[in-house]
Amino acid sequence: MKCTKGGNFSKGELQRYGNIELNPSAGVLNYGQGLFEGLKAYRKEDGNLLLFRPEENAMRMIMGAERMCMPSPTIDQFVDAVKATVLANKRWVPPPGKGSLYIRPLLMGSGAVLGLAPAPEYTFLIYVSPVGNYFKEGVAPIHLIVEHELHRATPGGTGGVKTIGNYAAVLKAQSAAKARGFSDVLYLDCVHKKYLEEVSSCNIFVVKGNSISTPAIKGTILPGITRKSIIDVARSQGFQVEERLVTVDELLDADEVFCTGTAVVVSPVGSITYKGKRVPYGKEGFGAVSQQLYSVLTKLQMGLIEDKMNWTVELS
Ligand code: PMP
Repeated sequence: MKCTKGGNFSKGELQRYGNIELNPSAGVLNYGQGLFEGLKAYRKEDGNLLLFRPEENAMRMIMGAERMCMPSPTIDQFVDAVKATVLANKRWVPPPGKGSLYIRPLLMGSGAVLGLAPAPEYTFLIYVSPVGNYFKEGVAPIHLIVEHELHRATPGGTGGVKTIGNYAAVLKAQSAAKARGFSDVLYLDCVHKKYLEEVSSCNIFVVKGNSISTPAIKGTILPGITRKSIIDVARSQGFQVEERLVTVDELLDADEVFCTGTAVVVSPVGSITYKGKRVPYGKEGFGAVSQQLYSVLTKLQMGLIEDKMNWTVELS
């Protein structure tokens, strides 16, 4: 789908997956004017497909587009395009329990612009790929390292929107962590250097007794759709959930820590290395709270329990 600055997106069309042509002066290539989304389709036992809260992804893209001076597809255009793309690729959705179809909507400044300015033309496209588990650990605990030098986002920056540049900013710390055997990096706020922010591609939760805390949304972390859903699921399961400033020291006496995201779903954290000290959580496998929340969320997403919240969208 295409759109000029200040205009509306045209009706889209399905095309075979392949290279796309871009002007060398495209806004996305030169000034990083790009946003993406990520969501999944699961196959149910009856063969029908389920999307999880696609309108939330549409709204997040609209919010991000405003920050990046881009026009955006409407909620209906976004959701209809996701549905059409998934249905056209139905055969690639893995069988129940064997994974999901990852859906990647991408919005970019595709028009040519030489001096720094918003591009004159925009392209919105969606591609898909079957996926299994995000971390090589699968659903086993992941191991994080707290990063002190490099930051993912700054106050007033673009950390709260899903713009492509945020991911370029984490590559260095993430690659170094992986080379040392960690699964990913946990970032701290760049002002006080003591409050938890998030992991390279997921949000973080800290469990202590019946209370679950997660860093509040304040412009430097991505408002994850899984985060928002887990907050509701946890409250419905009787946990007390707080969105607040969470200090890195709280990790030291947490009972459990877990991460949430479309790709990682609910991933238990097995250890966090902080200032050279390794803090282990639980024993082997999931902690009880992470396990409970993982179980409810994945059953909902796969259509195995009643969707009282009306979060899933069924396609046949
Ligand atoms: N934080 C970052 C930086 C991410 O890239 C993601 C993945 N979109 C998340 C958090 C989790 O967001 P969601 O639950 O919407 O996938």
